[in-house]
Amino acid sequence: MSGGGNAEDGPDDGQDRPAPRPLTHLAQAGRRSEWTSMPGQQGGIVNPPVWRASTILYDDVAHLRAAAGRDTHERLFYGRKGTPTAWSLADALTSMEPGARGTMLFPSGVAAIACALMAVLKPGDQLLMVDAAYDPTRGFCEKMLKPLGIETIYYDPTIGAGIAELFTPKTKAIFLESPGSLTFEVQDIPAITALAKDRGIVTLMDNTWATPLYFQALSHGVDISVIACTKYIVGHSDVMIGSATATSELWPALRNSAHLFGQMTSPDDAWLAARGLRTLGVRLAQHQAGALQVAQWLADRPEVAKVLHPALPGCPGHDLWRRDFTGSTGLFTFTLNGGTDKARAALIDDLQHFGIGYSWGGFESLALPVDPARYRSATHWAADGPAIRLHIGLEDPADLIADLEAGLARFRATA
Ligand SMILES: *Cc1c(COP(=O)(O)O)cnc(C)c1O
Repeated sequence: MSGGGNAEDGPDDGQDRPAPRPLTHLAQAGRRSEWTSMPGQQGGIVNPPVWRASTILYDDVAHLRAAAGRDTHERLFYGRKGTPTAWSLADALTSMEPGARGTMLFPSGVAAIACALMAVLKPGDQLLMVDAAYDPTRGFCEKMLKPLGIETIYYDPTIGAGIAELFTPKTKAIFLESPGSLTFEVQDIPAITALAKDRGIVTLMDNTWATPLYFQALSHGVDISVIACTKYIVGHSDVMIGSATATSELWPALRNSAHLFGQMTSPDDAWLAARGLRTLGVRLAQHQAGALQVAQWLADRPEVAKVLHPALPGCPGHDLWRRDFTGSTGLFTFTLNGGTDKARAALIDDLQHFGIGYSWGGFESLALPVDPARYRSATHWAADGPAIRLHIGLEDPADLIADLEAGLARFRATA
């Protein structure tokens, strides 16, 4: 929890109250009375409103001087440092990760990843990067970190405790993404973070797929958890926003880095993300159920070689997913049995209920041709045929399955 005064704290009546369960917490997180009520008036509104600001007006010169000299976190100081709209969202995200000290918000998930990496690395350091990382994360390492003299070494997502063999005196940070982008390998996060802690190595994780609702990264030893809130937190495909949540030890570095880079998010976008957060629980449950239904149906089809879904046995790291995660979400990949690019396009092009697009996590279903082998360097990725990544939205899974059945018929006719 970050600071007192949270709505969920309840009245201090001396009774020991159990911590609210995750769904209850989602309805209450980030709702402090000082953000929803007016000074001197009783009562208040439910949601912290949109506070737009650049200039903050001070009472007098003494106030101005005092404000500049103290901690500006969650205080009105300058528009770039945020207003209660963003603080409320950040507070809610912090409170979803036990062990977290604070959350910084960014204009996109990529900005959050870049800034979190810059917060912990300096020239001469080595970074261990999971080979199944989101491609723009790799791009940042190659095109930004490398010229700064920071070396990135890619590792097998299934490496587990074997990661210790890659440690050198220069190893400063390990970046995890679990499950991996496009290929969904689940990593042994507790094994890796335990070894990292022993050596004073910082761990960062891209937790976009599970969100803190289904995987609490800091509880599993991660130091900084990054989310592309653009995806499931917003949930409606209409806002770009990212977050990074850190432990007390890493919080000052993360915060300074975000401030120095001038990173922030607009209050309107923070407000939409906070609105999305309230329904994260019901949406993810529905994404999970629909995706499992579609994935299981695909797994039984002769045209399909493999379904890469962490909750299905056979996906690399499935047992780790069962051990560490409390749910699965709507995004997974399947590979086809043979077939050409053209046959894959025939499958995708005429789907009636799936859009063709990259950014997932909205209420709508998506189908995307993916070629994971292109984004690998430490491991070799091969499949029996082309791969398709699906995002299962909130539609009726029966309609999606019928749509895919017709798509597979087109694939057969073209292959
Ligand atoms: C989309 C995505 C990002 C980047 O988020 P943006 O908000 O689009 O910049 C980062 N990591 C993963 C796993 C993603 O899917």
